[in-house]
This record gives sequence, structure tokens and C-alpha cells, in this order.
Amino acid sequence: MAVHQVIPVTRAGHVAARMAAIADEVAAPAAADVDESGRFPSETLAALKAEGLLAALVPVELGGGGASLDEVSAGLVALGRRCASSAMVVAMHHIQVACLVRHGRNDLLRDYLRELSHHQYLLASATTEVGTGGDVRSSICALEVVDGRFRVQKQAPVISYADDADAVLVTARRAADSPESDQVIVLCRPPGLELEQVGEWNALGFRGTCSTGFVLRATGDAEAVLDDPYGDISTRTMLPVAHLLWSSVWLGIATDAVDLARKFVQGEARRKPGTLPAAALRLAEVTVVHQQFVDMVQSSLSRYEAADSDADRLASIGFGVGMNALKVSASTLVVDIVRECMLICGLAAYRLDTPFSLGRHLRDSIGAALMVNNDRIMANNAQMLLVLRGE
Ligand SMILES: Cc1cc2nc3c(=O)[nH]c(=O)nc-3n(C[C@H](O)[C@H](O)[C@H](O)COP(=O)(O)OP(=O)(O)OC[C@H]3O[C@@H](n4cnc5c(N)ncnc54)[C@H](O)[C@@H]3O)c2cc1C
Repeated sequence: MAVHQVIPVTRAGHVAARMAAIADEVAAPAAADVDESGRFPSETLAALKAEGLLAALVPVELGGGGASLDEVSAGLVALGRRCASSAMVVAMHHIQVACLVRHGRNDLLRDYLRELSHHQYLLASATTEVGTGGDVRSSICALEVVDGRFRVQKQAPVISYADDADAVLVTARRAADSPESDQVIVLCRPPGLELEQVGEWNALGFRGTCSTGFVLRATGDAEAVLDDPYGDISTRTMLPVAHLLWSSVWLGIATDAVDLARKFVQGEARRKPGTLPAAALRLAEVTVVHQQFVDMVQSSLSRYEAADSDADRLASIGFGVGMNALKVSASTLVVDIVRECMLICGLAAYRLDTPFSLGRHLRDSIGAALMVNNDRIMANNAQMLLVLRGE
């Protein structure tokens, strides 16, 4: 858990521009190796830390960048274009930070955010559990609180980049006698954090997220439990921010695929001047879909920012249905767009050894529908729609 010398990020607009520069200069050259070796994108994270960008969403008064979600989203699109694994790691970190900022109001958690800003800590998350699968709104493990100290043990089938994280936010039942849905979320950090690895991460895509399984054991001050019930945290912050930032990463993948397809078609046009390349019309079509994707992410960000300080609006059924729709649409569009671009570039995209290869884009994009399964999300929306009134 290294200590980093950081330059605070304070200028508005700076965050997205710096993330984009790191994407081009650091993440892009390492992306193939990160993917092939299934290794943590350490150089990209080091570069982000050196510029204070892991605290971008922390308020300025706590030592952070005070950036908007919009800026972080734009930075993630840029990073997703170059290395989707790096972008997903950074997205997952910022989702946890957003939860701490809104729902960690006690002194211990405020101090932790100051410390995070100073040392540029990286946060991981353990919501998924053996036995509940992707149903993150129920837990089997439970907190035990005695004399102001908590203890928890969780069988976590996936904790991305846990070995490189400085702390893990963990969901659990409030107490041993609580129902599965009465959950809290607790900040677990060394020296009270023990992670016993179970298995390996050898996946089709997002290989650099290193999403291995662990048995997590943690103890600590009971003040490390976030102040609101997990149900509120999930509805108001974790779910919408996750869907917005994941969608930004997937938009980055789709954007790079469209860029490559455009370059391919332009190359064809140069080779045979005066003729319209066969794939030019398909490129025009996929560009329409890509623009819809861009607009959808942007309008969803605007909707979130408009509701940001209105707890009732964030908790409303209509808002939840909309944020779930964003996730399902974005995770579907990214695969559709990459597949179309593969048809445009043909063998040059199918092969793994050309500048137009889309192998990694396709493999990464497939994971989007599984990161909380789209079937599960649609089932939640189906439930909510039974009681939704015009809002
Ligand atoms: C790259 C990546 C990184 C991840 N990182 C983390 C992390 O850091 N921390 C973490 O906690 N988790 C993480 N996850 C886990 C993720 O968020 C999901 O919870 C997990 O992928 C779900 O696993 P599952 O598909 O086995 O389970 P399930 O969601 O249970 O799905 C299994 C099957 O059951 C079906 N199903 C089950 N219940 C329902 C239902 N009610 N309605 C409809 N269909 C249902 C699904 O359609 C699917 O076919 C990560 C996942 C990925 C892909």
C-alpha cells in the first residue's frame, strides 16, 4: 500500500483532459500486454495517482478534485477507447468513492476521504456473494458488532483488482438476525483486512480487471459502516453511478471500434478514388447508432445531475427504471456496434495481428451484459413497472 506524492486536481475541465492524455500516452501502449497477460494495468493507475485523479470525485474541502460525474465519464470514454480493462478498474473505483462521498458522513469516513485524496487510495468492491449470485440486494454474510468493533467474513466470487486495492467496500447483513435484504456497506482496510484468494481470473474479456474470488475477513471500527442502509445507497448512488460509469467505458470501446471502421473505409476510398467503398453505407449506419449511444449517455448524466440533490427523485421508480434501461441499452449497443464494425473491416478486424483488429473490443464488450446480468435488471424493471405511475 504505497504512499504517493500527488498533485491535487482542482481546475474544472482538467480531469477529463488529463485522463484522455494518460489514456493515449500510458494506457494505449500497455493495453495489449494487460489483456494478454491478464495483469493489473499498474502503469495507468500509477499515472492517474500521480495526478491526483483517483480523488477526482472527492469534494475540494476534503482534498479532492471536486469534479463532476460528467467529467469523470468523459475521461472514462477516453480511457475505454485505449484500454477497457484500465477504464473499468477506474470506473469501479469511482463508483465506491461516490458512495463514500454521499453516504460516509461520520468523522471516521470523512477523515478516510481526506486520507484517500492525500495518498490516492484505490477502492475495490465486494457486493457479489457465493449463494446470492448477482443479486446484490441480498447478503448471506452478516456483520458482528461488539464494543464498537465490527467483524465480517464474506465468500466473494469476484473482487476486481483486490490485490492492488487499498480498501474494499463490502455489503453484508446488518446483524446475524437481520433478513437478507437488511444490508449495510462497510469500509474494510488493512491492517484489519485479510483476503484469501480462491481460484484465478482467466476470462474472455476485461482480463486486466483481475476479478478473482476471495474469502474476505475483516475487522475494524464500527464507524466504518456507511451511515445509510445499503438499500438507500444502492438506489441513490451505487446503481445510477455504476450504470453511468460502466456505460461510459462501453461507449469508449464502441467509439474506438467506429474510429477504426472509419479509418478502414477511408483507406479503401483512397485506394480506389472516385468510387464509394462497399462498406461506406454500413459505416454511415453504424455512426447513427453510435451517435444515439453518445446522446443516451449524455442525457442520462444530465438526468442524474439534475436529480443529484433531490433524494426523493433519485429514489423514485421512474428514475430507477431509466437508469436500468441505460445499462441494458448500453451493454447491448456496445456489442452491436463492435459487430457492425467487424463486418465493415472484414478479415482485417477478425485477425488479431492487424491495426484494425477488433478481437479485444469484441471480447471486452461481451462482458457488459453480465456485469449484473441484463436478465436480472429486466426482471427488476418488470417488477417496478407494475407499480409505476406517470411521473
Ligand atoms: C469484469 C467483471 C468485474 C466484476 N467485478 C466485480 C467486483 O469487483 N465486485 C463484485 O462484487 N462483483 C463483481 N462482478 C460481478 C458482477 O457484478 C455480477 O454480480 C456477476 O457477474 C454475476 O454473476 P453470475 O452471472 O454468475 O450470477 P447471476 O447474476 O446470478 O446470473 C446467473 C444466471 O442466472 C440468471 N438469473 C438469476 N437470477 C435471475 C433473476 N432474478 N432474474 C433473471 N435472471 C436471473 C441470469 O440470467 C444468469 O443466466 C464483476 C463482473 C465482471 C464481469
